[in-house]
Amino acid sequence: MTTPRERQEQIEAAVLAPWAARAGLTRGRLRPEEPDPVRTAFQRDRDRIIHAKAFRRLKDKTQVFIAAEGDHYRTRLTHTLEVAQIARTLARALRLNEDLAEAIALAHDIGHTPFGHAGERVLDDLVPGGFRHYEQSLRVVDVLERPGGLNLTQEVRDGIAQHTAQGTPTTLEARLVHLADRIAYVNHDIDDALRAHILAPEDLPPGPLEVLGHRHAERIGRLVDGVLAASEDRPEVLMRQREADALEELRQFLFRRVYVGSPPKVEEKKAEGLLRALYLHFREHPDLLPEGSAPGDAGVRDYCAGMTDHFAISVYARHFLPRPWRAEE
Ligand code: MG
Repeated sequence: MTTPRERQEQIEAAVLAPWAARAGLTRGRLRPEEPDPVRTAFQRDRDRIIHAKAFRRLKDKTQVFIAAEGDHYRTRLTHTLEVAQIARTLARALRLNEDLAEAIALAHDIGHTPFGHAGERVLDDLVPGGFRHYEQSLRVVDVLERPGGLNLTQEVRDGIAQHTAQGTPTTLEARLVHLADRIAYVNHDIDDALRAHILAPEDLPPGPLEVLGHRHAERIGRLVDGVLAASEDRPEVLMRQREADALEELRQFLFRRVYVGSPPKVEEKKAEGLLRALYLHFREHPDLLPEGSAPGDAGVRDYCAGMTDHFAISVYARHFLPRPWRAEE
């Protein structure tokens, strides 16, 4: 009898583009496992990621604005969901493997530090050999989650490890998530910066808006169209030059006006000081690390990188802020 999983593998074989990744032909897992009767290998990976503790912690990790007071600013989790949405749209339209793209998107920032790139800079400075969040993301899914890691497929692992521009992704689905990440963050960072009154609508450079449109949803739609126009019916995932140039101009604009030196960025200095103090404290007192931590700097790195913003602040308060002393009654 055909299982639901086998049926879906047959549908993938019949429907997906010849250059799409196929769950039935996965390169397999680090440790071989029996296939699931209901879900394909990539669907199972997606589900494992969603149920991971590190995934839930993304809800309280900074995307761009540290400790933003307001319920509508993006967090690392809502950023991740927007990336997954764009990735799924692109994958479905290009007849690539939507489940694989979704799994990679959901895990692409799972090893990110608290306090966004400020946190990443601190760890990069302190950890011997440096720190890159995409390497930590792979460590989270391979080692730190569950005893023994999530044991994901090679295709999802490759997509996580190569989610930034360096390296050549082994699947088109990984390429696609890289583009979806960029489309998502450039647009939502503009939206959040407008919400925070760091930018006014008239500050935005007119050239890219002419190409991409004046509204958030319109811009995402045009950028998706730009990817489809350049990638349909060919074994590549690219963005048409016109849209790619407009997106890059907006990104450079964000660097100048929002990512570096804008008023809320003042909080980053405090966040850096806090995380640095925690790192040095735990390196000096490894006995305070959670049980089962790796020895040496690796354990300190794993603990600090895994923290949410709030947890880091409360741990800092516990270790560094004096508390009123009360005599036993
Ligand atoms: Mg991202």
